[in-house]
Parts: sequence; structure tokens; C-alpha cells
Amino acid sequence: MPIRALDPKVVAQIAAGEVVERPASVVKELVENSLDAGSSQVSVEVKGGGVSLIRVTDNGSGIPSDEIGLAFDRYATSKVANLEDLESIQSLGFRGEALPSIAAVAQVDVVTCAAGEKVGSYLSLQDGRISGQGSRGRSQGTTVTVSNLFRKIPARLKFLKSVATENSHIANVVSQYALAFPEVKFSLLIDGRVALRTPGSGQLIDSLAEVYGNDIAENMIELEADTTAPPPRIAGMVGSPKISRSGRGNLSFFVNRRWVNSRMLARAVEDAYHGLLMVGKHPVAVINISLPAQEVDVNIHPTKSEVKFHNDSAIFGAVRRTVRRALTEQITVPRVEVATTQPIFPSVVKETASQPYAGASPDSIPSAPTPAMSLPVLRVLGQLDNSYIIAEGPDGLYLIDQHAAHERILFEKINQQRSQRDIEVQGLLEPMTFEVSPRQEAILKSRYQDLAEFGFTIEPFGDRTFLIRALPALIHDKDWAGTLRELLDSLSRGDKGDWAEDVTITMACHGAVRAKQSLSEPEMRELVRQLEQCATPHTCPHGRPTMIHLGLSQLKKEFGRT
Ligand code: ADP
Ligand code: MG
Repeated sequence: MPIRALDPKVVAQIAAGEVVERPASVVKELVENSLDAGSSQVSVEVKGGGVSLIRVTDNGSGIPSDEIGLAFDRYATSKVANLEDLESIQSLGFRGEALPSIAAVAQVDVVTCAAGEKVGSYLSLQDGRISGQGSRGRSQGTTVTVSNLFRKIPARLKFLKSVATENSHIANVVSQYALAFPEVKFSLLIDGRVALRTPGSGQLIDSLAEVYGNDIAENMIELEADTTAPPPRIAGMVGSPKISRSGRGNLSFFVNRRWVNSRMLARAVEDAYHGLLMVGKHPVAVINISLPAQEVDVNIHPTKSEVKFHNDSAIFGAVRRTVRRALTEQITVPRVEVATTQPIFPSVVKETASQPYAGASPDSIPSAPTPAMSLPVLRVLGQLDNSYIIAEGPDGLYLIDQHAAHERILFEKINQQRSQRDIEVQGLLEPMTFEVSPRQEAILKSRYQDLAEFGFTIEPFGDRTFLIRALPALIHDKDWAGTLRELLDSLSRGDKGDWAEDVTITMACHGAVRAKQSLSEPEMRELVRQLEQCATPHTCPHGRPTMIHLGLSQLKKEFGRT
């Protein structure tokens, strides 16, 4: 075929394909236009998964009647005038592509009335061509109705998923912008049913409660925006570790309030939760990053959902730091709810101490919640059920789960030794043999070096048999074979990314004292002393609590002595 310029209609459809991938993309573009128009109210209505109908109504600035036709010209925009503007984009839209792209793949009707105009105007387009135009009464704002999406493009229609799936994408788009713009009242009607409604109070927590429900909203922690620090400014809310989710779909990022996808930002947040979440769990977070428009490039892709930061590592660090700080300041030790009718202790308390706590007198100590990252000096009183250490602190009683606490201690110890390339190793006088399955054998052969980093010296010996010459000191007298097998199995499942962390957790778990193991008083004292020195003493590496705390003021209350 000779080279030929494409028919403008074909050009329009190819270009439209980049912007309008599915019904939710139409919703996104229309909602962005409404927000750019300064609306305080945005209503979205969809039918048939957005294929039959999408209607977005706002009370924004409106489109002047003499510009309404222009809005549908490709690359016509009121938001960017020159090259300098493109370097400092403040609005969500700037490419002037959305309306013409949508009109290329659907029927579009616009009714709008601009500020200062007495009568509004309407414009209808079919197949990208104007099919009707005139004046129409309307209060200030704009309504865009998109019907029969992709009707003329069967290939696109076929690619769409079920109505329910398309609806869920649409609901997600509206939810994200409701989170980014809490001062705007959003509503979403799906096939006549209210799917979302936000109050527009300006408080993120109110939008959050509508999007995620009260259970999550009640467990969100506000990020302290450091208003004195230079940009980037990190604001928003993150979920307490106890409301973690099994998927990554609950992380929302906005850059200057533009909803963006970013693996880098997701990693920064997950890093901040390090050691606080159970394996396989992911946090909930809504984070807005404000920075000068010149420091971020939003013109990467027609959908504008990807951005390039000029200084990736500064943003990564700022997000991780801000989230971590909020988490460590807010997490408190779980407190016991004591029913007054129940005895607090079963009778198995072992008495080991008699002198009172050496600190200040209990009355003088405020019973403020203990910040997660520091533990006061504790005095061991005894062991309960051979599983829990009972200890006294300046602010009341602590019940420590000995296994979870020891796991935390070992986890931090291994991490520290590893970062200093100083894992304690126990050489074996007589090497021991270790038999494995064919699958484990393949894994083991490819991981000698990684395992050596943790203190395992292993050599091939014969058919599916290996010689163990040295072991991590931590587990040499424990069930090291079981530990090693568990490690190999987790590797062969191709679990998650962070293998080193898995190894550390597995070793900490296998090395730790068990429940139902009687401990001597010096052993308990040593364990508690080491726990006091941990960076994150209140949770085990799986994210479970290591202790519960019963404050003195609460005790008094329980005894009716307030
Ligand atoms: P862009 O948003 O990139 O400028 P669009 O094709 O989405 O491009 O819109 C073209 C123009 O139409 C916008 O620049 C704006 O002036 C106008 N417009 C579109 N939707 C609205 C709306 N809801 N309220 C006011 N003006 C709008
Ligand atoms: Mg736009």
C-alpha cells in the first residue's frame, strides 16, 4: 500500500483510543473538567456500565456560548496558552483532547451556562459532527451527557468487561476524586441507585467515611504536614496497621490533587509500614503530595495518570518519613478491656518479686498512651501460663507474649547483624547431612550465596543430599532443618518480592522461645530488657501485638476509685 494521510475520522478514532479506553475514562475526563471549572458540586450518573449513558452535571464556571463549539476541537483548551504554561500546569486538564475524543466514539450532548450569561446554550454531536446547537435555559454550570459509547467500534465494546466490572471502575474514579476534593459534594448514581455521596465538608475524614465506611475511617491516622519544611508537602491519612487489607488497591495518591498511579509512591508507603503489618497485608492510605508544578511532569501519557518527579528520591524519602512518623507517634499499646465482674488474673501467677516498682510514685505519673516506639523500663513480676510475662511499668501492668516479643527482638537483631554483614555463625565440628525434595534441591542450588549471607554454609554432597558446615548461631540448637525447609518452600512458591525479609522472619520465628515454655526469672528479665531496646517493641514481625497494657488509671476506674 502506498503511504497516504489517514482520513481525519480515522485519526480522531485512533487518538480517542488513547484517552477513552473504557467508560471509566470518560467519567474521569468529565469529572476533571468539572473540577477544573471550580465546581462545588459534581453529580455523576451512569447506566449500563457507562455504555448506555454517562452524565456529569456540575455547578462550575460553565462554557461561554460562543466557545461551546470550540471545546470540541482537538487541542482546544482554555487551560494552557503557551509553552511556559505547560511547564507549570495547575489544572487537571491541559491537552484539550478529552471532549473531541469522547465525541469521536459516542454521542455527546452538552448543556451549559457560563457565569454572567442569562441564557445557557446546548450543543449535540453525533460521530464527532455537530448535529444540533442553540440556546437553552440552565443555571450556571455544565451538564455533559455521553450515550451509546463505542457503539460504532465493536472491537472496543467486545473488550469491555461485565457491567459490574465497568461500574466498579467508574465508582473507583469518582471515589478517588471525592478523596482528593473533600470540599466538593460528589454523588454517583449507578442505574438509579446511589452508590456514593459525599458531604463536601472539606474534611478528608468525611469523604473517607463515605468511600471506605466508618470502620476504616475511625482507624485512620492523620499525616502531620510540616508546614515549615520546604516542599514537597505530604498530607492525607493512613490506616492504622490493624485495618490492613489483603490487596494493594487501597492506596490513593494525588500529586497537586491529580490522581496518579505510582509504584514508587506505593513502595514508599509500604516501606513506612515495615514490620507493622502481617505478611501479605497492605495498608490503606490517601496521600496528597503538593509541590511546585515545575517539579513534576504530568504530560507523560494521554490519560495524565502518570507523572515524573524531577527528584524521585526526595519524594520517596519525604513520603516514607512522614508516614512512618505518623504511625510511630499514633500507635498505642493495646489496652485491656476489663469487665468488673471478672477476676483479672487466673490463679497461675508465679510470684517472683516483692519490692515495689523503683520508679516515681504511681500517682504522679500521667497515664498518657505510650508511644509505640519506646517502652518504659519494666520490672518482671512473674510468668502466666508459661506463655506470658507479667511486668510492671511506671504506668501500670504489662502482659507480654513471650514468643511474639522474642520474635521481635530476634528480627531486629538479625536485621542489624545483616546490615553490618556480621551474622553470628556457629560452625559444626561434624558436618551434618540434609536431604531435600527435587524442587527444594533446585532452589537450594541457586541460593547458596543468599543463604550464606544469613549464616548457612551448605555444600552439595550427592543425590539430593547436602552437607551443612555452619548454621546461624540463632537457630543452631533449634529445629534448623525445619527452618531451612520452610525457607526453601517459601522460595519455591515464588512468594512476594522481599525474600530477605521472609528469611529474617522465619529465622526469628524459629529461633524464638515458644509459648508453654517455662522461663527463669533472669531469662524473663533479659527478654524484657532486650525488648525495651527494640525500635518497634509493640508488634512482632508478623504485625501481631507483643503485649497488652493495663494502665493504673484504668485499674483505679475498674475498682471504682476514680
Ligand atoms: P482540557 O480539559 O484538556 O482543556 P477538554 O477537551 O477536556 O480539554 O475540554 C476542553 C475545554 O472545554 C476546556 O478547556 C474548558 O474550557 C471547557 N470545558 C469542558 N468541560 C467543562 C466544564 N464542565 N465546565 C466548564 N468548562 C468546561
Ligand atoms: Mg479535560
